[in-house]
Amino acid sequence: MTILLTTLNARYAHASLGLRYLLANMGELQSQTQIHEFVIGARSTDIVEKILAYRQPDQKFIVGFGVYIWNIVEITQVVAVLKRVAPEIVIVLGGPEVSHETNDQEIIRLADYVITGWGDVSFPDLCQQIIKGPQPLMKVHAGLQPPMNEIKLPYALYTDQDIRHRTLYVEASRGCPFKCEFCLSALDKTAWPFDIDAFLAEMESLYQRGARLFKFVDRTFNLNVKTSLKIMQFFLDKLAAAPHDPVFAHFEVVPDHLPDALKEGIQKFPDGTLQFEIGIQSFNPEVQSLISRKQNNDKAAENIRWLCEHSHAHLHVDLIAGLPGETMESFAEGFNKLVALGPHEIQFGILKRLRGTPIIRHTEAFQLAFDPMPPYTILANKDVPFAAMQRLVRFARYWDMVANSGRFANTLPVILSESPFENFMAFSDWVYANTDATHRIALDRLAGLVTTWLVEQRGMNKETVMGLVSSDYAGNAKHKQGNSSTGEQKAPAVAKATPQRQSRHLAA
Ligand code: SF4
Repeated sequence: MTILLTTLNARYAHASLGLRYLLANMGELQSQTQIHEFVIGARSTDIVEKILAYRQPDQKFIVGFGVYIWNIVEITQVVAVLKRVAPEIVIVLGGPEVSHETNDQEIIRLADYVITGWGDVSFPDLCQQIIKGPQPLMKVHAGLQPPMNEIKLPYALYTDQDIRHRTLYVEASRGCPFKCEFCLSALDKTAWPFDIDAFLAEMESLYQRGARLFKFVDRTFNLNVKTSLKIMQFFLDKLAAAPHDPVFAHFEVVPDHLPDALKEGIQKFPDGTLQFEIGIQSFNPEVQSLISRKQNNDKAAENIRWLCEHSHAHLHVDLIAGLPGETMESFAEGFNKLVALGPHEIQFGILKRLRGTPIIRHTEAFQLAFDPMPPYTILANKDVPFAAMQRLVRFARYWDMVANSGRFANTLPVILSESPFENFMAFSDWVYANTDATHRIALDRLAGLVTTWLVEQRGMNKETVMGLVSSDYAGNAKHKQGNSSTGEQKAPAVAKATPQRQSRHLAA
């Protein structure tokens, strides 16, 4: 009997935390359970061949797939091929993409069993039933949520190879108390913390094994200040003990909750060691109320500005286009407001209809039209017709290449000038009209496009523009972080663990 846990990660660098949780909680079945991760883009027949290599003669074989929005198409193909060549294999699905709307999915029709929601205890239970019988009658099983202290932590299952080469995902809590309707976490009743001391003991052991890059997947790191402080202190102690071998920690935070005690801790992190992902999503109060997002916009803006001016944290702030009630004008206003605050990156997302999320209650009133294929991106709504939404999609793509990449730090402020959204949209429309491409634009070509646009469309002096673009090439960036009034000179990014893109921003 063998149990294989598998999934397709978006990149090799993304080690699956979900699979490791399952393996850690397999109990007596752990010794006969293994993990094999694949990466999106692999041929489905190659994946099937590799999965079948784990099969033991004359033994039952259970394959558990972690299904997410980014891999459902590929996993559906893999499961279809597996069922053709080895129909006796027992296929169990789990993950957010198969946890809702289970009646109308092809992958669920093909599979033997599905566990919705939490799989930590339900997956091993289901495997026991499959092995020992009687065979489970139902195909779809609602996953049980055990008390948090009954879930075994999975961090020892990160291999030395994972520690050396991959992002280590960790979580001090699960769930979110907020109810933003586009988000799967809106379905959680609250946030549930793991025992903080047990969790930090695992972080200590990862650190001792060489881990330096920790990505927290907690939805709201700064919810419980006492816990946040304890976690920050853990990293500050490491930084103090080994300043030449620093850690890098990433947290998702809610923007309007930054008490003084947290600020004090945040200020102690040197350059290149701390990153915050901050969800703004929309600055429009009407939109926020429509999607049940409670956010104090003034406080949020004040906190982002404070972080820009008084901390060394790398700031990655999320906005979403296509939300019900958000017009092109109101989105532009929010975007310009955010640019003025000065975060290092603005993640310009386009609304997606995640299975199970309550956003669909607005479908009729706001004429929400979503792509039927994953990732179910919005195509049009009452206020933003299809063609305009396409312009926003391209804006997001070029924004990633030019702004978020950190490769045009000197030139970007000139492109954006006094009206960032309007100017970047003009640039985006022009690039598309002249290239017909939104992907695979090499850096040299992109630099040429930026130069030509500034000279020909904005009427700038060619030498001046070429000087700017060359200074970006030479890495001589001077990104202005916020409207800093402190005049404080920031030290260059030094952390070895700092990812490359963040290093470019911090050096800027
Ligand atoms: S968007 Fe953030 S705050 Fe809102 S429900 Fe999702 S995780 Fe919670």
